[in-house]
Amino acid sequence: MDLREKDQRYVWHPFTQMRDWVEPLIIERAEGCELIDIDGRRYLDGVSSLWVNVHGHRKAELDEAVRAQLDRVAHSTLLGLGNVPSIELAERLVSVAPDGLHKVFYSDSGSTAVEVALKIAFQYQRQRGRTEKRKFLALAEAYHGDTLGAVSVGGIDLFHQIFHPLLFDVLRMPPTIEALERSLEEHAHELAALLVEPLVQGAAGMLLQPRGFLRAARQLCRKHDVLLICDEVATGFGRTGTLFACEQEDVAPDLLCLAKGISGGYLPLAATLATDEIYGAFLGQFGEKRTFFHGHTYTGNPLACAAGIASLELFERDRVLDQLQPKIARLQARLSARVAPLGHVLEIRQRGFMVGIELVRDRATREAYAYDDAIGAQVCKAVRRRGVILRPLGPVVVLMPPLSISEAEIDRLVDATAESILEVCGA
Ligand code: PLP
Repeated sequence: MDLREKDQRYVWHPFTQMRDWVEPLIIERAEGCELIDIDGRRYLDGVSSLWVNVHGHRKAELDEAVRAQLDRVAHSTLLGLGNVPSIELAERLVSVAPDGLHKVFYSDSGSTAVEVALKIAFQYQRQRGRTEKRKFLALAEAYHGDTLGAVSVGGIDLFHQIFHPLLFDVLRMPPTIEALERSLEEHAHELAALLVEPLVQGAAGMLLQPRGFLRAARQLCRKHDVLLICDEVATGFGRTGTLFACEQEDVAPDLLCLAKGISGGYLPLAATLATDEIYGAFLGQFGEKRTFFHGHTYTGNPLACAAGIASLELFERDRVLDQLQPKIARLQARLSARVAPLGHVLEIRQRGFMVGIELVRDRATREAYAYDDAIGAQVCKAVRRRGVILRPLGPVVVLMPPLSISEAEIDRLVDATAESILEVCGA
């Protein structure tokens, strides 16, 4: 039995209709922005291995940092002990994060970073005597992960609806300042926190927030005594053109969720950053039980933290964000030239290196493709034949390449996408 057959026999893939799982593509190694399969075929990693890869694959400095850490210790717990890389990374995260976020609570995925933020916000309100502030306000079509707390605050029906009987109640609103003002005026007394993906709602289909929304959210939450949680799991680590999306609106949240790119896309790692004010509410005598009783086994894993430190060093040493700006412009120009004119492209939504290309059956009437058309998936299949890996969100084709992608590779990515849309959707 070859590897493809064994994959089909033994592995249950996430977000995948396994009946359609034929001819799986099996990756064996990688180099730079390319993934290489077991037959030696090369594919451009157009979505950064699900939005995580930052500096490319097999990046010498990251490989070396993980290897060097492996010679010391692969894992030791943060429950009752510290470890060297987790301390050094926490210091670095605090130094680059928006102002006031001085405490780092580690976990291991975007979902857990969000669970941690929700539980901290809830417990914080109780411990300062505001027991009535127990609800969360979230955005329409939000996505914060797949564990049940994260699903509760999520709003993507296709993924979340079936689990409704298991979820807690969440207030939901569209991302407009007026809706936020209204929601806070009516509900602030019962709200622990507002949770937002800043600037771009990724899994909703790369929806761009109106400029000024995040800044208004910061001001209004402060005015109404509601915590602001920013989920930068997708937007963090340069993806929108700045290290964190919050920076673009000069916003410092009360809690910040990080994952995906935090380890350069090498190893599972996440962090929830908190202010001193929040942290302080958890301090007390042992018997008072103000402790945050939460922790995952691999929390603060030394290998992952070593990768995280090396990644932040690269951001600084190679001035990654400065290098990124002309690439963002190139990506935008190439998309405008090659993709925007296509007859079935309704809209291209781009913020930095996060791009969503929305396809419609009829541009004039904005008639959508049916779910069954699986139009995004078809385009991604076609692009694979051109040596590019993409993953859609329904009818939205997503491009989110590693920040290290070259200008020639940007052209290759966009051109292959344009050709594939034309092949699948027609002119
Ligand atoms: N939050 C946001 C904004 C995300 O985009 C994602 C994943 O795409 C998550 C949370 C969940 O992260 P993970 O898949 O690592 O649990």
